[in-house]
Amino acid sequence: MSYLFPTYARWDVTVKEAKGSWLTDENDKKYLDFVTGIAVCNLGHADDDVMQAVGEQLTKYWHTSNLFQQPIQEDVAKLLVENSDGEAVFFCNSGAEANEAAIKLARKHTGKTKIVTFLQSFHGRTFATMSATGQEKIQQGFGPLLETFTYLPYNDVAALDVLEDDVAAIMLEVVQGEGGVIPAEQEFIDKVNETCKRIGALLIIDEVQTGIGRTGKPFGYQHYGLSPDIVTSAKGLGSGLPVGAMIGKAPLIETFQPGSHGSTFGGNPIAMAAAKATMKKILNDDFLKEVEEKSSYLVDKLVQKIGNHPLVNGIRGKGLLIGIECKEQVGMLIDQLREQQLLVLSAGPNVIRLLPPLNVSYEEIDIAVGIIDKLFSTAKETASAQ
Ligand SMILES: *Cc1c(COP(=O)(O)O)cnc(C)c1O
Repeated sequence: MSYLFPTYARWDVTVKEAKGSWLTDENDKKYLDFVTGIAVCNLGHADDDVMQAVGEQLTKYWHTSNLFQQPIQEDVAKLLVENSDGEAVFFCNSGAEANEAAIKLARKHTGKTKIVTFLQSFHGRTFATMSATGQEKIQQGFGPLLETFTYLPYNDVAALDVLEDDVAAIMLEVVQGEGGVIPAEQEFIDKVNETCKRIGALLIIDEVQTGIGRTGKPFGYQHYGLSPDIVTSAKGLGSGLPVGAMIGKAPLIETFQPGSHGSTFGGNPIAMAAAKATMKKILNDDFLKEVEEKSSYLVDKLVQKIGNHPLVNGIRGKGLLIGIECKEQVGMLIDQLREQQLLVLSAGPNVIRLLPPLNVSYEEIDIAVGIIDKLFSTAKETASAQ
């Protein structure tokens, strides 16, 4: 008997404690965590520096509201601005809320209503962000949706030619996370950027999953030489404390005035303390270089061990957001990996998604690849036995 709405297909694992890259369940079984709370615990679990910063803020005050000056919000906003192309930040509590803020800002600023997104995208579960999400399964039963969203095929350069100047914004992920770990091609991103200029639309990059170092840069768009009007962040920003942010360029700032938008908990000082400590640790060249190095190491090892496996279609990703595309559904493989004490996720039906902590060790990568390799070698036997 559960008192919860059954909105999640939960695993049969109850966590007792978590530290670094490891979870321990109530039976003292240990798991190597390549899920990290769905790209949230980018420094692993219970990072000492984040814990200390949160602890200090806990002893000062927890919540006062946005009626008051909030210097800690200024500190976090400054870090976000210094690491992006934006000039001002609005704080909220989740990725969906950050995207809601972006959608509202784009509409108010341009005076237009239409927003273009892409098939297989994921932007959240609120009404507007569900409508923005290009996946029918997420929208089923909730219609009529907001009518002002149009979905185009992702990585399809020619499809953008149909757009006209009634578009307020084009919104996209530079690596579609939930949709299957699909990185955007440079040519496609260039065309999106040109199209925004051609039709007078704002460019919104949803960095909820790809941001805060996950791809080896502060934000994933920085791999593509872009300068978006609006960037949204959440997941990894607070190391597990709920926080979201929308970062906007200078011309947009005056569009939001007192009363235009808000959030009771947005910019909560405890969450801000976590975000500040998290960004200070991740957003520097040495740390991010290591993310890139670990990414290459992990991808090379995977290619070497299972790249030619008959079940594997390809291995791709950016930084430590990595997908193993399989020729069949991966649900069973993921369950089996969990039994073997490696936690991974799916992304769409056929892709195993790896989201290790960004400070994962080489030794932990070796352990994970060993478990994956072992499972695939037995999976091959089953496949050829049939
Ligand atoms: C997870 C995710 C969201 C939604 O974030 P929530 O915090 O669950 O609201 C939005 N966009 C992308 C790209 C995501 O991965």
